[in-house]
Amino acid sequence: MTEVWRNWAGNQSARPAQVTAPGSVEELAATIKAAAEADRPVKAVGSGHSFTAIAAAGDAVMVRPDRLTAVRGIDRAAGTVTVESGLPLHRLNRLLAAADLSLTNMGDIEVQTVAGATSTGTHGTGRDSGSLAAQIRAVEIVLADGSVQTCSATENPELFQGARLGLGALGVISALTFAVEPMFLLSAHEKPMGFDEVLGDFDELTAVNEHFEFYWFPHTDRCSTKRNNRSQGPAAPLPKFKAWLDDDFVSNTVWEGVCRVGRTFPGSIPTIAQVASRAWSERRFTDQAYRVYTSPRKVRFVEMEYAVPREAATTVLRELKALVERSDWRISFPVEVRTAPADDLWLSTANGRDSVYIAVHLYRGTRELGYFTEVEKLMTAHRGRPHWGKLHTRDAEYLSSVYPHFGDFTALRDKVDPERRFANDYLRRVLGA
Ligand SMILES: Cc1cc2nc3c(=O)[nH]c(=O)nc-3n(C[C@H](O)[C@H](O)[C@H](O)COP(=O)(O)OP(=O)(O)OC[C@H]3O[C@@H](n4cnc5c(N)ncnc54)[C@H](O)[C@@H]3O)c2cc1C
Repeated sequence: MTEVWRNWAGNQSARPAQVTAPGSVEELAATIKAAAEADRPVKAVGSGHSFTAIAAAGDAVMVRPDRLTAVRGIDRAAGTVTVESGLPLHRLNRLLAAADLSLTNMGDIEVQTVAGATSTGTHGTGRDSGSLAAQIRAVEIVLADGSVQTCSATENPELFQGARLGLGALGVISALTFAVEPMFLLSAHEKPMGFDEVLGDFDELTAVNEHFEFYWFPHTDRCSTKRNNRSQGPAAPLPKFKAWLDDDFVSNTVWEGVCRVGRTFPGSIPTIAQVASRAWSERRFTDQAYRVYTSPRKVRFVEMEYAVPREAATTVLRELKALVERSDWRISFPVEVRTAPADDLWLSTANGRDSVYIAVHLYRGTRELGYFTEVEKLMTAHRGRPHWGKLHTRDAEYLSSVYPHFGDFTALRDKVDPERRFANDYLRRVLGA
């Protein structure tokens, strides 16, 4: 019997029928053909960092990423790197740095696999630069019939539109080509600000900074803001001890202890929030881009995140604050707010509209008590689009109403996977049968 697979947050599990870790595109194609002959579903997993059951492979052949991690090559003239789909982002970041290159933008962590991260639309924050999937220039994917297809903006463009951010529904990606640029430094400026001040200045803060984001601490009027902008140098990284103290010890070890106290004594959370929100002081540093974008996250939580149209963002945030104030919830985790420019990926949360991401979290094991349910109602009242890898309850009917190209994606799926080789319960819910 196979072992039970669990995701990072521990809120999803599945026992696959079979587990395999192909080491080449040929082995991957053979795996998919064999599964088709045995009439078994196939599910590729990345690093299990999705909170939804999108990667759950119950009863399926689970394709692990561990042996598909080679670097196929860097093309300096084209400004691209091609890597196999199971390569974790932290390895990609370091190999690019060694070649004096960098991705343009990325999310908060770097442990996901490249295909896992892009398949759910993983994003950071950016005025001009979008998600990781928006940085893909070509995809190599094995389809349900075992054929290996390559696609780009000019070759097989329809498949490219779907497969860059395909929810694992179209096939198993074997390799991805990303756009890269010469390595650059980012200057980070982190600063506490009041909630009303941030919202009042939101248009300006997001217009003058390349990467602006903030955390609002529920039960307080305080926020921690972050501005990251390109710098000509010199590099001025945080001293190693300070970086460890702030971004690992305080953000992980101390925070874990604080969250445990809050879970056991929810009544203490507003006081904890007051103290925690004051603990973040102003700081500045300049470092290689990926070191500024990402930091270790060890405290386990569950998360819901919605993208709302840019113009609705401050209204939604004010309503969210009022909702928390009216409730008797005790929320220890800050609410994270990020931005993205409109893009053209069919299932991107930022498709066709400038977007603001609003993310709510609960420490693992905390009773939900309606926080996510009510926040989701608020987000959907503003035509919000849920992150595909973060908790939500939306189905195909709702999603087809907020994604203009939903029908294009499902038509492509009908064409390349008519027998639903790559389906699971989550995909049946969000895409329809
Ligand atoms: C601590 C933490 C921090 C996070 N920070 C961010 C953030 O800053 N921004 C953000 O947007 N998200 C963030 N996320 C969400 C996370 O980036 C996404 O859920 C991402 O999809 C996880 O990647 P993974 O490699 O773990 O893939 P999994 O979760 O294992 O899989 C995700 C999807 O990819 C598919 N897939 C995997 N490999 C392949 C393949 N080879 N071919 C086809 N499909 C494949 C799976 O079938 C599944 O559908 C965070 C999550 C956690 C737990």
